Amino acid sequence: MPGERIEDAMAAGSRQQAQGIGTIFTRLGENVTRAEEAEEVTQHYLGVLDKLQASGLDAQISVKPTQLGLDLDKGLCFRNLQRLVDRAAERRNFVWIDMESSPYVDPTIDLFRQTRAHSALVGIALQAYLYRTAQDIESLLPLGSAIRLVKGAYLEAPTIAYPRKADVDANFYALACRLLRPDAQQRGTLLHIATHDPKLIERLNAFIVAERVPQSAYEYAMLYGIQRALQARLARDGRRIRVLIAYGDYWFPWYMRRLAERPANVWFVVKNVFAR
Ligand SMILES: Cc1cc2nc3c(=O)[nH]c(=O)nc-3n(C[C@H](O)[C@H](O)[C@H](O)COP(=O)(O)OP(=O)(O)OC[C@H]3O[C@@H](n4cnc5c(N)ncnc54)[C@H](O)[C@@H]3O)c2cc1C
Repeated sequence: MPGERIEDAMAAGSRQQAQGIGTIFTRLGENVTRAEEAEEVTQHYLGVLDKLQASGLDAQISVKPTQLGLDLDKGLCFRNLQRLVDRAAERRNFVWIDMESSPYVDPTIDLFRQTRAHSALVGIALQAYLYRTAQDIESLLPLGSAIRLVKGAYLEAPTIAYPRKADVDANFYALACRLLRPDAQQRGTLLHIATHDPKLIERLNAFIVAERVPQSAYEYAMLYGIQRALQARLARDGRRIRVLIAYGDYWFPWYMRRLAERPANVWFVVKNVFAR
């Protein structure tokens, strides 16, 4: 994280923009328990969308449904998301919906479908570690959706998710290729290839070249501070890339929760501190 305040995050976003890298902002936090908290988060992001237009920064926002009140009331969460997407339309911006742990997948896809029915300025994250994702992608393809493909960050049971990393990687590749096929492109699909995995990126780049996939069909997406050299190289090579910057004062509980959920996450953090 470049800092706790949105101003810190925006300063980092400007530095990225100078390198040809776009930004996605997210304020840390999840599972709000009161409607007032969901309202505060919504107001915050509405303000961010205003600030982004005023600053001219090439930056989108990404929100967690449980930050907008999904645990409290689906209707409330939908209305809050709709307000963000409406503001994004006024400010010529775009809203991403993060995917949380498996019990939230169905309600999050419902939320996406409902919002997508009103506006194309919304995208959804899908997780390659879940067996169901191939089917979810087929069902979302007719909408011409913006899809951020990630490996998945939560600890899930082997009954619903691939337990072996090699299988997750293979599924990521297969799903990404599916989303880059001509029929997906014709429907207006936008794929965010959200990984720091150099081998996977290399394989997908080879597919993109071999299949002559147009630049408009995909972007790369990574996290702030991870694989900086690869981020810069992709930008220099003329690839479209966005880097997600998290900010906010909720980082300590958020980090501890990620560790508790999945101890392997600690290695991810440690590797990123040392592997610059
Ligand atoms: C933009 C973005 C948005 C995301 N949104 C969500 C979401 O909504 N829901 C969700 O569940 N998850 C989300 N994630 C997290 C994602 O699910 C993964 O947990 C996370 O990205 C780590 O997986 P990976 O694909 O980068 O590769 P990993 O399999 O963790 O790592 C692959 C390889 O990358 C290389 N690598 C990684 N870091 C470094 C480094 N610092 N230096 C050198 N090599 C390195 C190594 O070769 C490593 O073996 C998001 C990730 C990104 C990038």
